[in-house]
Amino acid sequence: MTDIEAIRQALEPVAGKRAAAPKLAEGRVSLILDVTGLDSDRRALLEADIRRTLKALPGVEEVRIAQTSEKQGRRLVAVGSGKGGVGKSTLAANLAVALRRGGRKVGLIDADIYGPSQPRLMAAEGRRPKAEGQKLIPVPTDFGVPMLSMGQLVKPGQAVAWRGPMAGNALAQLIDADWGEIDLLIVDLPPGTGDVQLSMIQKHKPVGAVIISTPQDLALIDATRAIDLFNQSNVPIIGIVENMAGYACPHCGEISDPFGSGGAEAAAQAMGHPFLGRVPLDIAIRRASDAGHPPAALDGIEGDVFREIAERLGGWLDRPAA
Ligand code: ADP
Repeated sequence: MTDIEAIRQALEPVAGKRAAAPKLAEGRVSLILDVTGLDSDRRALLEADIRRTLKALPGVEEVRIAQTSEKQGRRLVAVGSGKGGVGKSTLAANLAVALRRGGRKVGLIDADIYGPSQPRLMAAEGRRPKAEGQKLIPVPTDFGVPMLSMGQLVKPGQAVAWRGPMAGNALAQLIDADWGEIDLLIVDLPPGTGDVQLSMIQKHKPVGAVIISTPQDLALIDATRAIDLFNQSNVPIIGIVENMAGYACPHCGEISDPFGSGGAEAAAQAMGHPFLGRVPLDIAIRRASDAGHPPAALDGIEGDVFREIAERLGGWLDRPAA
C-alpha cells in the first residue's frame, strides 16, 4: 500500500517545492499546490500531471488539490550591461517579444538615455505616447508588447544631457505609466552604473537583473561593476548572457571567435551566477533588428537563442517563492 512518504517521493519530480502538506486518508490524497506565477494553462497542466502521478500509486482513489498563489504586483526585470554596444537593447527587445509569444503579458521600457533604440528595434518610430491625466499611455507595437522609451519623451540627442533627478523622474514616468493588464516589464537600462540604475534599484525594486556582456575581458570588467551594483542592492542576478560569441561566416559557414568565446560563461561560473545563454555574432540578427523585426518575432533559427534565454528567464520568474 502507498504511504505518505511514497506520496512525497512521487510528488517531488512532478511538482518540486510547489506541492505542500500532502495528506492521505482512506485512499484520498489532499495537498496544497502553490501556482504562483503560472498562467491558467500551466496551472491546469501541472495539476493534471500531479493527479496522473498520484492515481498511478496503488490504493490512491481520489486526489484533491487546493491551489494557492501569492498575490503579485507588476514585476520589473532589468537588463543591464557594463558598457554600450554589447547588444543590451537587442536582448531586451527580443526577450520581451519571446516572453509575449510564450503567453505572458509583458511590456518594454527603454530607459537608455544615451541611446534609446527600442522605437527602431520595435518598429515604433514616430509613435508618440499620449497622456491621460498624469499618466502616459504606452504605445502599442506590432509584436503585442506595448512600450515606452526615453526616446519618445524628448527630441533625439537631447536626453543625454539629463542627470540625477531629471533622469530619475523620467524613469518614474515610464514605469508608473498606465500599463493596464501588463504584469511584467522588461527595462532596458543605460550601460554602466549611473543615475538611472540607482533610481531603478532604489525606487522601483526590480525582481532581478539580466546582465549581457561580450566575451572580451574588458567588457567583463565593466560587466562585473554592473553586477556588483545589483549585488550590493540585493537585486538578484537572474543570469548572464554572452553576446557576439562565435561568428558564422555567411559564405563558408566556418565559425570563428573574433571576440573570443566563453569569457562571460566562465565569469558567471566564477561569480556563482547562472549562465543564460550565448548569442552568436550573426549578421542576420543585426539586419532583422535594424529593420524593426526582432528575430524572436520570426520563426527562423536566429530567434531560437532568444527564445531559449526567455524560457530560462520565465523559469526563474515562475520559481516558487523560497
Ligand atoms: P547596446 O544596447 O548594448 O548598446 P545594441 O543592442 O544597440 O547594443 O547593439 C549594438 C549593435 O550591434 C546593433 O547594431 C545591433 O544590431 C548589433 N548586434 C547586437 N547583437 C548582435 C549579434 N548577436 N549579432 C550581430 N549584431 C548584433
